Amino acid sequence: MRAVCWHGKHDVRVDEVADPQIVSKGDVIVKVALTCICGSDLHLYNGYVPTMKKGDILGHEFVGEVVEAGSGVTRFHVGDRVIVPFPISCGVCWYCKHELWSLCDNSNPNSWMLEHLYGDTGGGIFGYSHMYGGFSGGQAEYVRVPFADVGLEKIPDGIPYEQVVLLTDICPTGYQAADNCNINPGDTVAVWGCGPVGLMAMMSARHLGAERVIGIDRFPDRLQMAHSQCQAEVLNYEEVDVAEALQNMTGGRGPDSCIDAVGLEAVGTGIEGIYDSVKQTLRLENDRASALRQLTKACRKGGTLSIVGVYSGFIDKFPMGAIFAKGLTLHAGQAHVHKYLPHLLKLVQEQQLNPSSIITHRLPLEEAPRGYKTFLNKQDACIKIVLNPQAQGAAATPGSEQASAG
Ligand SMILES: [Zn+2]
Ligand SMILES: [Zn+2]
Repeated sequence: MRAVCWHGKHDVRVDEVADPQIVSKGDVIVKVALTCICGSDLHLYNGYVPTMKKGDILGHEFVGEVVEAGSGVTRFHVGDRVIVPFPISCGVCWYCKHELWSLCDNSNPNSWMLEHLYGDTGGGIFGYSHMYGGFSGGQAEYVRVPFADVGLEKIPDGIPYEQVVLLTDICPTGYQAADNCNINPGDTVAVWGCGPVGLMAMMSARHLGAERVIGIDRFPDRLQMAHSQCQAEVLNYEEVDVAEALQNMTGGRGPDSCIDAVGLEAVGTGIEGIYDSVKQTLRLENDRASALRQLTKACRKGGTLSIVGVYSGFIDKFPMGAIFAKGLTLHAGQAHVHKYLPHLLKLVQEQQLNPSSIITHRLPLEEAPRGYKTFLNKQDACIKIVLNPQAQGAAATPGSEQASAG
């Protein structure tokens, strides 16, 4: 089959690889109908995530059809159309039983790789390095899905794949970010980053009752999308002092909650931005903290910081003093997709939520290398790319950067 494989920094290729096989009786094989390139795939693409190996199949956002089921699978049959959450969860460990699905204790055989650094770590994730289990991802024609009875959600008849493909990650991720803010009527929620997850967080904050939503970014087309799709007020952080602007917009108090949908590759301004870039390049820190510092400074006293942007390690000049002095509450982590999926699917069905409105690019799988480049450089007003592995004839598209073998 064909699959998008990682070969190094800024080098992904569409390779011919072996078809996946049922390994355990709880597995299914899914024929992938649609799969997305995620902002967190760019951290792999940019070489920030260790333990990637040449040839690893990328992709953790995919939907498709069950074409083979292990003998132990009871809830799904060949022919079922399914949504696959990006975290892999066993369903029986202490964490799964407590709805902390992405922290599953049994689904990551390589959790030891991070235990010495973090104390403990999360469950397995499709297509996201060997420290998250080394599972092959879904940017491929087929993918093996373990613990199928636990994770999968059937797509109701009449709902096209495109309407639900964002429920695999970014929609629940944005929703959890907003849910963690415990939004009260009248609240103002500020969201750093108007990329896919930030947009989903703004949409969700609105849905959960926020009176005002403020989106912060530096790309005009993303700010425009935040305004048009999420009814957000917007701030360009290259044009204004964000903390000061937010104070002015909220009667001097600051937003009730601040969501970080940026993460470790935050682009800072001025001396601080240069400082972080140099330190990260020299490997003196893992993560750039400019967004996180702004959130902490801007948030009102007693407010909530909700962090969904990915961070990987140690961070410098983290304003712990401000968190303490202002009595802030901090939430972070990967989304517990399983917890939110049924509810979000219902909202999509009832047309109360329309996550697919942010999809800007639809490409055949063969064009994944071009897609990664376009998404990374935010060219062509790119916000969310969906790849179709079943689209035929695309390999012959002139100018497409189809991988040559090796
Ligand atoms: Zn994702
Ligand atoms: Zn578990």
